[in-house]
Amino acid sequence: MIAHYGYKDAEGEFFITIDTDRCGRCEDKPCVAACPRGVFTVEEDPYGDTVVAVDDRRRRRLKYECAECKPAGDRPALPCVRACPWGAMTHSW
Ligand code: SF4
Ligand code: SF4
Repeated sequence: MIAHYGYKDAEGEFFITIDTDRCGRCEDKPCVAACPRGVFTVEEDPYGDTVVAVDDRRRRRLKYECAECKPAGDRPALPCVRACPWGAMTHSW
């Protein structure tokens, strides 16, 4: 399943997209520890797979949660995306 977490407003679209089929095969879930803001949670999906999701309380404020990883100038690779060995995560902004 492709899961989209985030929101759209006058400033743009702020979504994190996760391929949960890949998460189900990812034992260590390194994106969780890699995120300095604790954006991710681990949960069981309807198919019984253990997958990563964006924490409920953070979905509506992702632009602000991720701001320190996304400076206006030269942007380094995002810690969460860099940590993912399966290429399962993308950000829309
Ligand atoms: S590291 Fe990638 S595949 Fe593993 S749980 Fe996180 S997003 Fe899913
Ligand atoms: S961009 Fe940074 S704060 Fe946002 S989810 Fe990734 S690691 Fe966490």
